[in-house]
Amino acid sequence: RLSSSHLCRALLGDRFLLRPRRKMASHIVGYPRMGPKRELKFALESFWDGKSSADDLQKVATDLRCSIWKQMTDAGIKYIPSNTFSYYDQVLDATAMLGAVPERYNYTGGEIGFDIYFSMARGNASVPAMEMTKWFDTNYHFIVPELGPKTKFSYSSHKAVSEYKEAKALGIETVPVLIGPVTYLLLSKPAKGVEKSFAPLSLLESILPIYKEVIAELKAAGASWIQFDEPTLVLDLESHQLEAFTKAYTELESSLSGSNVLIETYFADVPAEAYKIITALKGVSGFGFDLIRGAKTLDLVKSAGFPAGKYLFAGVVDGRNIWANDLASSFCTLQALEAIVGKDKLVVSTSCSLMHTAVDLVNETKMDNEIKSWLAFAAQKVVEVNALAKALAGQKDEAFFSANAAAQSSRKSSPRVTDEEVQKAAAALKGSDHRRATNVSARLDAQQKKLNLPILPTTTIGSFPQTMDLRRVRREYKANKISEEEYVKAIKEEINKVVKLQEELDIDVLVHGEPERNDMVEYFGEQLSGFVFTVNGWVQSYGSRCVKPPIIYGDVSRPKAMTVFWSKMAQSMTARPMKGMLTGPVTILNWSFVRNDQPRFETCYQIALAIKKEVEDLEAAGIQVIQIDEAALREGLPLRKSEQAFYLDWAVHSFRITNCGVQDTTQIHTHMCYSNFNDIIHSIINMDADVITIENSRSDEKLLSVFREGVKYGAGIGPGVYDIHSPRIPSTEEIADRINKMLAVLETNILWVNPDCGLKTRKYAEVNPALTNMVSAVKVLRTQL
Ligand code: GLN
Ligand code: ZN
Repeated sequence: RLSSSHLCRALLGDRFLLRPRRKMASHIVGYPRMGPKRELKFALESFWDGKSSADDLQKVATDLRCSIWKQMTDAGIKYIPSNTFSYYDQVLDATAMLGAVPERYNYTGGEIGFDIYFSMARGNASVPAMEMTKWFDTNYHFIVPELGPKTKFSYSSHKAVSEYKEAKALGIETVPVLIGPVTYLLLSKPAKGVEKSFAPLSLLESILPIYKEVIAELKAAGASWIQFDEPTLVLDLESHQLEAFTKAYTELESSLSGSNVLIETYFADVPAEAYKIITALKGVSGFGFDLIRGAKTLDLVKSAGFPAGKYLFAGVVDGRNIWANDLASSFCTLQALEAIVGKDKLVVSTSCSLMHTAVDLVNETKMDNEIKSWLAFAAQKVVEVNALAKALAGQKDEAFFSANAAAQSSRKSSPRVTDEEVQKAAAALKGSDHRRATNVSARLDAQQKKLNLPILPTTTIGSFPQTMDLRRVRREYKANKISEEEYVKAIKEEINKVVKLQEELDIDVLVHGEPERNDMVEYFGEQLSGFVFTVNGWVQSYGSRCVKPPIIYGDVSRPKAMTVFWSKMAQSMTARPMKGMLTGPVTILNWSFVRNDQPRFETCYQIALAIKKEVEDLEAAGIQVIQIDEAALREGLPLRKSEQAFYLDWAVHSFRITNCGVQDTTQIHTHMCYSNFNDIIHSIINMDADVITIENSRSDEKLLSVFREGVKYGAGIGPGVYDIHSPRIPSTEEIADRINKMLAVLETNILWVNPDCGLKTRKYAEVNPALTNMVSAVKVLRTQL
């Protein structure tokens, strides 16, 4: 049997081994690892389910790596990354490399295998997983290293070296990519039982020896460049944190001599002070900058200068979006940079790893050709990078550039993109302030007169369990396999079931359960104009999980009502208030690929106007409580403090636009996921919703401390009383206990009781007892108040 690498060599032929082509200065920061059809996802999940062997999984992985390297080689890329593949997460890979396995996994030394690796990532029968958190401002999640003063480090995963050698065996020279030591530590958290004040950065001296071992091995294997990803350089760092970069790379200097070092940054521009520090590093040969999100990078390089003899890796091709590059404009930028850094010292690159964009446009067989001509996924971006590098070297592919220019201008002038009326309406919103005329406490009084809710009102966040049957009905309706009539009947039955269940449970404000929705953004995107959907445009979110963001390509409007039919039907089934359920503009924006030909806030205002129409239609249809979810408002917060106020201002304004026109008696709810609210609490108050439900179950203390510190909160608030991400069923006592804790800080008359988030991913066997206990806890407390 042929091994994968033999197979791959056979595919490649011997041409790369025998006739190395001259390559232009082109570089790719990193590449999607999931595969064009999510091959890695399916291989992982099958392995985890015990349906396939470790060998099977490794074979899929080897083939994916090989085809990615081959693709970049074919495209003519000079600096091809290796070790950007991962079975789960690149930060976890670094943890494995350093042997920094938390004690609870009983690691006893030696090369870390799938066993320990996947236990850290996902937990096992006896030990929970490590924490996961968002990778900067992307929708990717990494596994947070847990470090303490006693953490022992040892070189425990040779993955970087073996992947480098694997490519080399195929005749492909690569740049091994490592998470840089300072970024690794800055992203770590103190291990359990270690004091919160412990700074993982103090472990720098302890991890550098491992880095030296890895470097030595990579050099011995022949690596002439090593890339260190140090994206924390774009954050607002303190001076001792900045000094750590000098310390680290000075200390590594002698180990690194003889090979070239690239320090790669992304997701924003590097602040001037950090720029000064890194460009002064002697042992470093090249610096990678994001010229898409790093709007000030060009000015910085111009004004602060660039060290002679070093390479600048210019990230002009957007790794976080799906638009075709404007090659003419990038070429201009590159020429300006070349004038500063010198000929032969400029390398064309992507703004960040391409793992944050979709994989290959070739697989979009259902999309119309016009829109397709405006797009570039990872595979196409690789080609763009090379085309720019060739142009810089004086070998411009005129045909490719003019086809690109034609696509750019067709996008600019297409009537599908522009809707004058929408543009005008959105422009009119700028600089103005929209809010409801009456203040929140007066509104709450007016609403209570109508709704007549008991104290500590109970509700849920919107979705109820989505059974296989339900998914099948939706799928069959989409595929025209069942009639509209049959579909409506099935969904109506489901809504009825959910309504009756909530009445039996004695919940106060009901939901219809969202059975008609696949996804809270897709559902609205499909009904709004200006959106297009992909078939295979998957982006890794965490582990084997991927999301498929819609693409907003044009001005957004709402041709007709989107939810009124279902909400009205649900309200007709009960005498209790039924919440209308909408996704807010900021969340729709943050979970989509957004157009890059106008500022984000303009697109957001357009979506806000569309949702506003829906809110008003719901109100007119007799819906008295309307929830507008802003699950992703927090996650759109810019990385740098200096940009946060502006974002929060238009994001919160967009939310208010959706509901500023309703009557005082209409109650507006909002819901937010993630518990990190303390720093934006004033913006949350400024959303001016009547009631907010917040995901909270994993950190009561943190949220409540804001109110303890005296922040005045007059609107209704429902911090989730139990975690819906776990199958565990909370007891009545436990829930009562948590409500009591909240009552100690918040006024009784503003507190709502609800789970953390939607119940979509849970089973009825979990939801029924959990909600029963939630309502009993409330009933006990009501008698005591
Ligand atoms: N209404 C949505 C649901 O219940 C909210 C989901 C979310 O916040 N992520 O599913
Ligand atoms: Zn949520």
